[in-house]
Amino acid sequence: MTFTRKRSEAIFEETKKLFPGGVHSPVRAFNSVQGAPVFIDRGEGSKIYDIDGNTYIDFCNSWGPLILGHKHPDVIDKVIKTINKGLTFGTPHELSYELGKTIIDHHRYIDMIRFVSSGTEAVMSAIRLARGVTGRNKIIKFEGCYHGHADSLLVKAGSGLATLGTSTSAGIPEAFIAETIVLPLADPELLVEAVQKYKDDLAAIIIEPVPANNGLLLQDAEYLQLMRDLCTQYGVMLIWDEVISGFRLGFEGAAGHYQIQPDIMTYGKIVGGGMPVGAYAASREIMSHVAPVGDVYQAGTLSANPVSMAAGLATLQVCLEEGFYHNMEKKTMDFTNRLQDALDQKEVPAHIQTIGSIFWIAFSKGRVQKSSDIDPASMEHYKRLHLHLLENGVYFGPSGYEVGFVSAAHTKDDLDAVIEVVNSL
Ligand code: PMP
Repeated sequence: MTFTRKRSEAIFEETKKLFPGGVHSPVRAFNSVQGAPVFIDRGEGSKIYDIDGNTYIDFCNSWGPLILGHKHPDVIDKVIKTINKGLTFGTPHELSYELGKTIIDHHRYIDMIRFVSSGTEAVMSAIRLARGVTGRNKIIKFEGCYHGHADSLLVKAGSGLATLGTSTSAGIPEAFIAETIVLPLADPELLVEAVQKYKDDLAAIIIEPVPANNGLLLQDAEYLQLMRDLCTQYGVMLIWDEVISGFRLGFEGAAGHYQIQPDIMTYGKIVGGGMPVGAYAASREIMSHVAPVGDVYQAGTLSANPVSMAAGLATLQVCLEEGFYHNMEKKTMDFTNRLQDALDQKEVPAHIQTIGSIFWIAFSKGRVQKSSDIDPASMEHYKRLHLHLLENGVYFGPSGYEVGFVSAAHTKDDLDAVIEVVNSL
């Protein structure tokens, strides 16, 4: 069947009258790629199906939560059983106990956890906790890391290095920006300089240990260790935002992968198995600052709602099966090696970066570790590739800055089919 998105185009024209940009989260509007967004009707395993009758092998997987692919039978079964008992009670519930215990029993660095409803909320709460524990205000974040849309985190580097940043959104008070210091990634000297300069008022350093929101900017283990050491030395909370890497790089996420213990970890995506969830976790001592035990307030009407807990629990139980992460990593490596070869054959100037089951096609000559090393002009290559893939039944995220996710549902046939499509570029 030839590709058409006529129905999607028509409804997109209508939704633009109702929602800003026609969407409820900006990247969905396809502004960075060609044509209208395709409206998805349903998903099953590795595939999604749009309202024009097109089928796609999906590498977006709802931006990461669907590590098992769409509609995994265990997840759907548990969710339906849960829904049949009611949607939410606003009371303690056994499912959050089961999910929390499953996580804590299999994660060496977590003693206690608190469930919230999104990654943004998890990070916002983690920062409040770091400030509450230390009695300090400032935080250091890194250019090219995304931590959700809380005010103090929508900040990018200012003109000078290790100086105050500027906001990336209208509506953010200067006073908030003044509390956030933005550094480039992969620059140990600048990190040491900034920590020494601000140490007396530094509550936290927050980083995506596997930066995956602005390409995949893999950092050196020594740099992450240096950050740990500086935080220990100066009594600063190290927050690892594992919203993407958590339960994806392995059950213990990036913390387990690098064997570095952050003070606070934040989660989202996989931990809710496709339902709205976030979580923050830490040692018993740090978590004892959270209300109602401690004086750091945080609450939520739908926090730890049974349906999200059910989806998360069913998902993590599959992730805990013997060999799960090993198989995911091997499948991804084999796939991205072949994808690299196929792009090389077509003389597309691409360099694929991979970790676990995450990959990113950098249109560069070699490894990219800093956002400033990404050439915006190179995104033209992505636009072309994206359209060709879409028209031939492969769905990649609609921006060249987004990573791809391999799921447990991708079969050898799916991955072979993608290589064929690239061969026909
Ligand atoms: N932190 C990271 C590392 C993320 O990737 C995201 C979302 N992509 C968030 C925080 C925010 O999560 P949410 O969209 O659930 O608010």
